[in-house]
Amino acid sequence: MTVFSGPVFDMAVKQFGVIADHLDIPEDERGRLLMPKRAVTVSCPIHRDDGSIAVFEGYRVQHHLTLGPTKGGTRFAASVDLGEVAALAIWMSWKCALVGLPYGGAKGGICVDPSSISRLELEALSRRYMQEMIPFVGPHTDVMAPDMGTNEQVMAWFMDTYSMYQGRTVTEIVTGKPVASGGTLGRREATGRGVAHLARKVLDELGIAAEGATAVIQGFGNVGSYAASELHRFGVKIIAVSDHSGALTCRSGLDIPTLMRHAQQHGSIAGFSSELCCDPDSILTMPCDILVPAAMEQVIDATTAERLQCRILAEGANGPTTPAADLVLADREQEIFLIPDILCNSGGVVVSYFEWVQDLQQLFWTEEEVTRREYEILDRAFAQMVSRARQDQVFNRTAAMAIGVERVRAGKNTRGLFP
Ligand code: NAD
Repeated sequence: MTVFSGPVFDMAVKQFGVIADHLDIPEDERGRLLMPKRAVTVSCPIHRDDGSIAVFEGYRVQHHLTLGPTKGGTRFAASVDLGEVAALAIWMSWKCALVGLPYGGAKGGICVDPSSISRLELEALSRRYMQEMIPFVGPHTDVMAPDMGTNEQVMAWFMDTYSMYQGRTVTEIVTGKPVASGGTLGRREATGRGVAHLARKVLDELGIAAEGATAVIQGFGNVGSYAASELHRFGVKIIAVSDHSGALTCRSGLDIPTLMRHAQQHGSIAGFSSELCCDPDSILTMPCDILVPAAMEQVIDATTAERLQCRILAEGANGPTTPAADLVLADREQEIFLIPDILCNSGGVVVSYFEWVQDLQQLFWTEEEVTRREYEILDRAFAQMVSRARQDQVFNRTAAMAIGVERVRAGKNTRGLFP
């Protein structure tokens, strides 16, 4: 029996089972590697603008403390539940280990549709959530970051609330903050830039010129919009994008800088153009060189995987591909090069790590240095994944996760049962 349940948690368990079998991990060691160290559920009451009181449920899951503090985003979405948060925490662990960061994985969230509450209510909820978390987090225990539905402003409220309780400014308690409040240059762009950097690397390996190549992007929030913008800068034509409000397509390539300005101003791509609108369900299977799912989990199932017409699947979102779809993708690996989520979107946590390091040292880097170091780490992890896939004769997700799981396992086995 476990308190964790739901399709996303089941997916994390299934994926781990594949890796554990591949690595021949004994049965009695598996639970210790997989099950979260700690999970907290809190009630967050706030005053609504009309004077009434509403209570929202919040969660934080810390997967393991073996390699250092835990690290992970905070998601505000109506779909959030404990199982989803636990799955995301587990994936963060394999991701941090794959790219060599001294962290375990964590994730948190509140079950709320942020578009359904006012800005004042959002501030009250963010502050209340952090206040409830104070006994469980800390710069050397668990460091939060943004995720779906949260942003730099929410991180600033988290940091301020934590700091007020400590009686001093503690910038290193969260990452993804505004630069004006101790954030790092290059964090806002980091995840999308990393996705685009890795996609271009694979284009090069496949002998496809970036100039004139095509890309389709699902999700136009932090990850999707910066991935689009960077790919556009490389000369890639973004032929379709979608978000929760709909989808746009243009064979000759969308005007990404103008679309980004529109989305930042209006909160979505809605209203950008009525002529370019298309069916959001159609875009994942459009013929293109690069497909970037950058919205949410489980959007590519086995049927969609059969119908994909991309050369590169660059997973910007966490968990966009189901285990059943993975079986299809493993069969199609000669046609579609998979850059798995734990590598593809890891630029975000890499630069979050840089932000934490800079805050601890109170010594700040230039954006150029941040991005150069980000790409160095991504390139190293990419090379390790490719070589492991070749050596073990497995597809890229198995190789990337095997490296991550193996590193956490090595840490646990040298320390003992506590962490
Ligand atoms: P965000 O809230 O900034 O953006 C999410 C986007 O997805 C929005 O454009 C939203 O409209 C869109 N969306 C929602 N439902 C959709 C639907 N049904 N169809 C199409 N689009 C839809 O979130 P984000 O930070 O960009 O995160 C996106 C994904 O990337 C999540 O899986 C998150 O866990 C992952 N991720 C984010 C970061 C980061 O640094 N922000 C880092 C690693 C991974």
